[in-house]
Amino acid sequence: MGPEEMRLTAAVPSAASPLAPPWLSYPDDVNRLDPALWAQDVARPGEELSIGGLTVSALAEEFGTPLFVVSEDDFRARARSFKDAFDAAFADLCGGVDVYYAGKSFLCTEIAHWGAEEGLRLDTCSAGELAIAMRAGIPGEHLSLHGNNKSDAALRRALDLNVGRIVVDSLPELEQVAALATSLGTTANVMLRLTPGVHASTHEFIATAHEDQKFGLSLAGGPAGPGTGDVASSPAAQAVAAALGHESVNLLGVHCHIGSQIFEPEGFELAARRLLAFLGKVRDLHGRELPELDLGGGYGIAYTEVDAPRPPAEIASAMADVVRSTCAELGLAVPRISIEPGRAIVGSTTFTLYTAGITKTVRVDVDGDTQPRRYVSVDGGMSDNPRPVLYDANYSAALASRTSGAAPVLSRVVGMHCESGDIVVRDVYLPEDTGAGDLLAVPGTGAYCWALSSNYNWVGRPPVVAVRDGQARLIVRGETENDILARDITRTTN
Ligand code: PLP
Repeated sequence: MGPEEMRLTAAVPSAASPLAPPWLSYPDDVNRLDPALWAQDVARPGEELSIGGLTVSALAEEFGTPLFVVSEDDFRARARSFKDAFDAAFADLCGGVDVYYAGKSFLCTEIAHWGAEEGLRLDTCSAGELAIAMRAGIPGEHLSLHGNNKSDAALRRALDLNVGRIVVDSLPELEQVAALATSLGTTANVMLRLTPGVHASTHEFIATAHEDQKFGLSLAGGPAGPGTGDVASSPAAQAVAAALGHESVNLLGVHCHIGSQIFEPEGFELAARRLLAFLGKVRDLHGRELPELDLGGGYGIAYTEVDAPRPPAEIASAMADVVRSTCAELGLAVPRISIEPGRAIVGSTTFTLYTAGITKTVRVDVDGDTQPRRYVSVDGGMSDNPRPVLYDANYSAALASRTSGAAPVLSRVVGMHCESGDIVVRDVYLPEDTGAGDLLAVPGTGAYCWALSSNYNWVGRPPVVAVRDGQARLIVRGETENDILARDITRTTN
């Protein structure tokens, strides 16, 4: 049977499960791929899902599963689209925008090369990420260093590399940076990370610019609360005064990052206005206009059918309008703007390929009735994607190694780990005949999946392959049992 015939037979009468969340629609065609969720070169030309012309079964055969599969062209296109959109929107305001790719979302040497080749800079947050940047040959002035508890080793490395900016997170850290720079006979380029008191509408654990969390220097000074108090006495203002007093510190400007996986523009806009107002205050207090403003990352991507990310051009022009009007109101020269997207560049470039194993149907009570829920176990799980456990993150999945005419049934894709919370995809309709040996692909796993992966249950981290021009090549080697055994210290006998 060809794919078209399969599609016809898949059109069964609707049997949406009462256990399904309200946002999940019952698919007309369970074999169809929603282009919003996948890299640009993923398709189903026949029975199988393919990327850049390579079938998933060929990839699984060569590299095994679980496997992260990243589209190089898609990464480059998304990187370029942010750079081009922000450059265009801010051209007449400040000549363009510096886009720092947030390496924490996923970083390896190849990724660092791709970003640099597309005109991006690189945001790091540890000595290890700086080591990758060095291996990729990224010039120091194109690097930034983040972190709320930076080690001396990371700071020394950053100063040795003369990084473009160290984003200082607290008053004690400012002193640590100033002292290290003095001892090394150098000057530290510094931005201050501020918390503008904006609650981004996202999961609590990743909303980072409100007050009750670990990052940044508060803009709130007086008793009246964020953004309304006496800014001049705030930790942010104290840090500016301290930084300006240090000869070994070159204070470039201020930074904020209000959270992650955010779709609504209001939070970004409010944060930008508050930081610009703060720069106005700094000018009034110190007679200095700081030359740079970093508005962070956090732009959302589509993980499921209900996520609707805004195109970079729309985000950029809205931001440019806010910066233009606020600077005009304050009589402030427009600072050089930078942003730090991670997820929005790498997230949708990648899918994880798993092999399905055991399936099981349980009955769940719903209003005195019982309803079936099918569990499909795969050969990875929370060790390669902890986001569902950490953030209740939703994903989607597709039967990838074939199409099916079987009815879609509500399914939960679960991992192989010893945790009942080890869920990969909480709710998805998969064909009823999905079973052992089938390949499943989970899209949108480029950001904060491999980067957050672990060896839980002594499972090796999966490899990452990049696909371009019909070729797949390893960009991160998977961990083998030998890697695991090599780190385990055996008892010495004599
Ligand atoms: N910048 C900072 C300071 C961050 O903490 C993060 C993510 O945590 C990012 C940028 C990237 O965020 P996203 O990947 O959501 O764009």
